[in-house]
Amino acid sequence: MARIDPLSPDDLQPPDIIPWQVGNSDIPFAHHFDSGRPGPHVLINALMHGNEYSGAIAGIRLLEAGIRPTNGSLSITFANVEAFAQFDPQFPIMSRYVEEDMNRVWSPASLAEGWPSLERRRARELWPLFARADLLLDLHSMQADRIPLMLCGPSARGRDLARRLGMPGIVVADRGHAGGSRLIDHPRFTQGDQGPIALLAECGQHWDPDSAVVATQTAARFLQLSGIVPASALSPWLPSVEPAPARLVEVTETVTVGSDRFRFRKEYQGMDVIPAAGTPFATDGEKVLLTPYDECVMIMPSRHPERGQTAVRLGRFAI
Ligand SMILES: [Zn+2]
Repeated sequence: MARIDPLSPDDLQPPDIIPWQVGNSDIPFAHHFDSGRPGPHVLINALMHGNEYSGAIAGIRLLEAGIRPTNGSLSITFANVEAFAQFDPQFPIMSRYVEEDMNRVWSPASLAEGWPSLERRRARELWPLFARADLLLDLHSMQADRIPLMLCGPSARGRDLARRLGMPGIVVADRGHAGGSRLIDHPRFTQGDQGPIALLAECGQHWDPDSAVVATQTAARFLQLSGIVPASALSPWLPSVEPAPARLVEVTETVTVGSDRFRFRKEYQGMDVIPAAGTPFATDGEKVLLTPYDECVMIMPSRHPERGQTAVRLGRFAI
């Protein structure tokens, strides 16, 4: 079930990020550490969505542990801090954003011009740092789905790194949303055969305490593979054995809501596999939507499908 009830004492509690407001860069809630030696610039971002704070807990754990690069550089950032400041345990789904979804504003055009929403102003403030990242991990969580997964975007290099990470164990290769560009969709991270890589980790359900564990372990594994932090410094969060390569789900289509009467036929939990092609899975106005092939995977079905927004992605296991 989608969670609309108040936060309970057993849920993951929001962290205090105020001690991390003054970073060591010109940007509030942005921390940057340069080893002074050659190597990639690795960036861990949290709080792209204000109610997804498991990633912020991971960022704080890394900062509190004093993790520093021995080569290259490391940035740890908290993005939509204004939305997070509005988090209300009585209405925990309400603080995703203030004026618009911050993870739909990362096209070059949106960064350069247009409505100066609170989220775009913050994105424009962060972009000079993000634009210098060679390896970027954007930490998120999900409203209903409990199975963590990595979104690697459309590039082969993103897919390869996400599979090698092995954490989370499922990689979804998709092409973003009709509603706007995610950070991982920016051309910097998608164009050309080689170049910077950005991945988006969905670490589990927003308020599941395990999502903070997954976020921290995934960030640690990302830093390990980047080679800028010795494994010994990350050992509290690294698995004892090297993870197997993650399984890959290729998204074949993104279903965008076309009417005000979109209904799923049943409540999908995310990563549900529908065995037979031609199975009705939703209605959109008069239109009945059918699975296009056998073993169709329902990826991140929306709890509140709205016209013009993504309802669900359809995919299949490729590896
Ligand atoms: Zn998110």
